Order: sequence, then C-alpha cells, then structure tokens
Amino acid sequence: MPSPDSLRSAIRDVIDFPTPGIVFKDITPILSDPVHFRDAITLLCDTAGGRKIDKVAGIDARGFIFASAVADRLGAGFVPVRKKGKLPWKTRQVSYALEYGESVVELHEDAVAPGESVLLVDDLLATGGTAGAALKLLEDLGSEVVGVSFLIELGFLNGREKLGDHKIESILIFD
Ligand code: AMP
Repeated sequence: MPSPDSLRSAIRDVIDFPTPGIVFKDITPILSDPVHFRDAITLLCDTAGGRKIDKVAGIDARGFIFASAVADRLGAGFVPVRKKGKLPWKTRQVSYALEYGESVVELHEDAVAPGESVLLVDDLLATGGTAGAALKLLEDLGSEVVGVSFLIELGFLNGREKLGDHKIESILIFD
C-alpha cells in the first residue's frame, strides 16, 4: 500500500485563496504526477475495505476527479452530486449553511436505488456541510452509504461531527 506521506508533501498551501484568511489546499500537484495520482486513488479505494460497492458518489467539482477513478477501479458506477442547476433530469436537493449564506447540492432521483451500497468521496472535509448534505440526498433515496472518504481532512474544523455515525476515512489529516 502506498504511503500517504509523499502525498502530504505534494499538497500546496495557497494562502488567502479564495478569500483572506483561508489556506487553500491545492491538490493539482497530486493530479499532475502519475505516481501521486495513482497512489491517491489506491488509498481511497482501500477505504472501501474490500466491500462490494455499487456506486461511488463524488461531490462537485474536485470530488469528481477522485470519485470517478475510484469507481472505475472498484468496478462501480459513478454518481455526481452537483451544485444547484447543473443536473438535467428530475432532482432532489438539500441546502446547507456556509460561513455566510447557504448553498445547495442536487442529485438525480434515479442516481441510486434503494439498498444499493454507496461510497461517498470528496477531495476535502472542512466544516462537513457539503458532505453532510450529500449524505442526506443519498440516504433519502434509500441507498446504504457504507463509507465517506476524503483525501484531505482539516481536523481542526471538526467536520466529522456533522456526518453522524458513518464510517469516515481521510487519507491525510491536517491539524
Ligand atoms: P465543507 O462543506 O466546509 O466541508 O467544505 C468542503 C468543500 O469545500 C470541499 O468540497 C472542498 O473542495 C472545499 N474546501 C473547503 N475548504 C477548503 C480548503 N481549505 N482548501 C481546499 N478546498 C476547500
């Protein structure tokens, strides 16, 4: 199994992006390196723990990059959880609080079927609002979310507390 350490050193901290006070974790150096990218996908696939996964759900937009590759590797389908107004078919939506204001994520009504096992994947867990909303969408459609996996977790924001008693796994935790 690859070591997460080399991935950690590849992440680029961008100060004050997109707004003052935010330290943005730039994952593009991982994506552009074939070994890092493959290692990240291998480590995320390992969080499935060998369980049969029917669908991997990814969160708009950087979550798609990882989730679609994980889905392919696990032999699962891929499901996009998108920001409001992007999905063309019948959707369900959940709104959630941001630091200022709110945001909305949407899922196609037929994206998952009752009883299907789903792994939810995103690039980064911050406050947990986005992943929490995605979880609600998936579970309201009757799917069984068997894990929620992140490449990066900002541990000091305690986002996991918003995700209930799900199996949460992060490859890299920053405290
Ligand atoms: P949250 O809903 O607060 O957990 O925010 C998670 C989403 O916002 C993820 O999909 C990330 O892509 C993005 N995000 C939040 N904070 C950062 C950060 N410091 N660096 C990079 N992406 C972030």
